[in-house]
Amino acid sequence: MDQIRDAIVSGSAAPGDFASMPIPESYRALTVHKDEQEMFAGMAASDKDPRRALHVDHVALPALGPGEALIAVMASSINYNTVWTSIFEPVSTFGFLERYGRTNAMAKRHDLPYHVIGSDASGVVLRVGPGVNAWKPGDEVVAHCLSVELESPLGHNDTMLDPEQRIWGFETNFGGLAEIALVKSNQLLPKPAHLTWEEAAAPGLVNSTAYRQLVSRNGAGMKQGDIVLIWGATGGLGSYATQYAINGGAIPVCVVSSEDKADLCRAMGAELIIDRKAEGYRFWKDEHTQDPKEWQRLGKRIRELTGGEDVDIVFEHPGRETFGASVYVTRKGGTITTCASTSGFMHEYDNRYLWMNLKSIVGSHFANYREAYEANRLISRGLIHPTLSQTFPLQEAGQATYEVHRNAHQGKVGVLCLAPEEGLGVRDGEMRKRLLPEITRFAGA
Ligand code: NAP
Repeated sequence: MDQIRDAIVSGSAAPGDFASMPIPESYRALTVHKDEQEMFAGMAASDKDPRRALHVDHVALPALGPGEALIAVMASSINYNTVWTSIFEPVSTFGFLERYGRTNAMAKRHDLPYHVIGSDASGVVLRVGPGVNAWKPGDEVVAHCLSVELESPLGHNDTMLDPEQRIWGFETNFGGLAEIALVKSNQLLPKPAHLTWEEAAAPGLVNSTAYRQLVSRNGAGMKQGDIVLIWGATGGLGSYATQYAINGGAIPVCVVSSEDKADLCRAMGAELIIDRKAEGYRFWKDEHTQDPKEWQRLGKRIRELTGGEDVDIVFEHPGRETFGASVYVTRKGGTITTCASTSGFMHEYDNRYLWMNLKSIVGSHFANYREAYEANRLISRGLIHPTLSQTFPLQEAGQATYEVHRNAHQGKVGVLCLAPEEGLGVRDGEMRKRLLPEITRFAGA
């Protein structure tokens, strides 16, 4: 791997050189092990420690198939799906790999006793399989995490609707938290030239998801002037949703849980902020009973901030804990758009508020190819910025995942894979200089 790393870091290799550079038979990767998938049985999710389940192993290089590419991964990032995989919640990901493996002979490669995880990557193309024309060895890329087969007509209007849709590095093997990753070539997008490897790897999954969920017509179709309630406004998803709201002329109402996070919202340009911890909302009186008075208290606070207006769109992902409140505070005809259920997926809300007020709940999941491309294009043009707060070496990815599980992080947490240090990979120094305050807003937060 040293030759490949040195060639990328020094910039001395011509693009064609990568095609002839030998690729080692094995590489370092962050894994979970199938024989450990019951290790946390009976424990509460919050007590499960990702550091116990995540390993850095040497794994065998997978064979390259048609339409695929092998990339040298310079950096990756921790996503919440890294947390889910590492605590085997809500299900073990080995079930995904087994099911995928049964679909065809090439997919069988993914069904292994270990799972190389990770759904983001920045790096350099090393090899492309038969039928790949758009990319070649030496190209500097980021990878989005939509893996689809596209053999069914059902996925051709919106690739997220493909019956064989999977999230790479979560529902497939050979993900990005590794020195080498195997992707379908149509996951590749050009690496934003003004960003370091770790900054470029940070937005992928969450930025594309926030784009579809909030901006795209497949999601909430946000428009200028919309009031958008954003839960976890400085978290992985929320830190991009907040930027999209501000960029798109909407008015974000940012919900966070500390004054530091409120400051980050202000730094992004948001003015209306609710500290949910300081307010002490208790939407559930006990495990089974919600408290509509608390929904009303949140609604009143929103009206105080907005000058009496209710929210047009709620950007939902906490799930069970907040969903009843989210449905309540949405204005007549408004939209609750949801992509997750971090606090529990059996939601409960008062349906009278939904139907009598003609509100809509819109389910959203990652992004189709076009949406992922649009989201990356906005990063490349410096209109949306990475929200990278800290970076760990691959060896310490377990600790990085632990911090996200404990909600002790801001924005995105990066991981250096082949990159020997932070700060490498910038190709457009002029653009970077111009955008530096925005790019580094979350750094060290
Ligand atoms: P994250 O970085 O942990 O951010 C989530 C934020 O939500 C937290 O920082 C926290 O902010 C807030 N939050 C957490 N629990 C809450 C609760 N009970 N009530 C209110 N706020 C709460 O995670 P993320 O990357 O944004 O992902 C969030 C969820 O979306 C995860 O479940 C993830 O798996 C899912 N997701 C789904 C997709 C998809 O394609 N479907 C894509 C990305 C992520 P404060 O403490 O500041 O309030």
